[in-house]
Amino acid sequence: MTMWSSAMSASKCLILTVPDPSRAPMKYSKTQFHKSLLRWYDEDARDLPWRRTDDPYCIWLSEIMMQQTRIEQGTPYYERFLERFPDLHSLAAATEEEVLKQWEGLGYYSRARNLHRTAQILVEQYDAVFPENPEVLQLLPGIGKYTAGAIASIAFGVPVSVLDGNIKRVLARLQAVEESIDKPAVDKRLWELATVVLNRRRPGDHNQAMMELGARICVPRNPLCASCPVRKHCRAFSKNLQDRLPLRTPKKAIPHHEMVVAAIVHKGCYLIVKRPSEGFLGGLWEFPGDRIKKAESHEEALRRLGKEMLTLTIRPGGLIAVVRHAYTHFKVTLNVYRCRTQKSDVLSTSHTDSQWVKAEDFEDYPFPTGHRKFLHLL
Ligand code: SF4
Repeated sequence: MTMWSSAMSASKCLILTVPDPSRAPMKYSKTQFHKSLLRWYDEDARDLPWRRTDDPYCIWLSEIMMQQTRIEQGTPYYERFLERFPDLHSLAAATEEEVLKQWEGLGYYSRARNLHRTAQILVEQYDAVFPENPEVLQLLPGIGKYTAGAIASIAFGVPVSVLDGNIKRVLARLQAVEESIDKPAVDKRLWELATVVLNRRRPGDHNQAMMELGARICVPRNPLCASCPVRKHCRAFSKNLQDRLPLRTPKKAIPHHEMVVAAIVHKGCYLIVKRPSEGFLGGLWEFPGDRIKKAESHEEALRRLGKEMLTLTIRPGGLIAVVRHAYTHFKVTLNVYRCRTQKSDVLSTSHTDSQWVKAEDFEDYPFPTGHRKFLHLL
């Protein structure tokens, strides 16, 4: 019987056995595991604002906002967002631009657009009541298996497991998984294991305790095993593999794009353009920019951009800033130039809207972080 199937079939009474030939086999009950984990969580969990409530709106918001975001960075956003949109009705009634403005700087803007759309669907079709069923929750924009499980278990006490990056790492170490956790088959087995180890009496606390353990103790590098409440249940620790696990599939090198950005001035106003709602940085405003082609000078790239993207003849001027910014899948260097033009009629081929705005009004528009970095220089 494999390690995995053994864990699955023994789920009723045992969760982990440690087959270390140098020692007598250790066996621990699921009850002991739950007790150790929840005692630690009850005594030591961080006091986070969304843990003081069982309002599904707040829990949903926190789960969406904290994906790909550090808690320290995300918490002020969470508090400001709730102040501006305290419930489903206020969020549903807002414009997309108002929602994006509150999200500005957090990245992954599709999360904000999906929050907005989901709020509208819940108000229009569900009488502003969150469904408790994780399957139904997953029908809503931006709510996947993880988020549905988190909302259902934390807000409603539904016994359903969750698996995020932190929990994946914890489970892979507890079970000493010596395969890449990036493989779909391993991911599937970890979901099954998360369900096997779930505390069905306190599913919300259990899921949050596992996340907390991954965030504070079972961290990616140098896990703090000496302080770990479930150390005696951990195969990686017993085999001294905790620093080697989990295994990951090596990532491809991230491409780097060199770009020109045109800060075009006409009669004291700057031209900004709006990205299409769907897709990367959707719905945000920005200064027109494009990748520099091979053997093309910055000036040539700017003139081409004016003609092809904006149907505008522009006269490139001085360099204002060189901004480096990293996204998940690529890095960019933005070479920002002041440019002039004689006319204000713009026909952008790749944007949904354009405006001429004064520098003091930039604050009214949501910009991507890369562009926010040079706004103060204009
Ligand atoms: Fe992670 Fe170490 Fe705890 Fe195992 S003992 S779960 S490796 S922190």
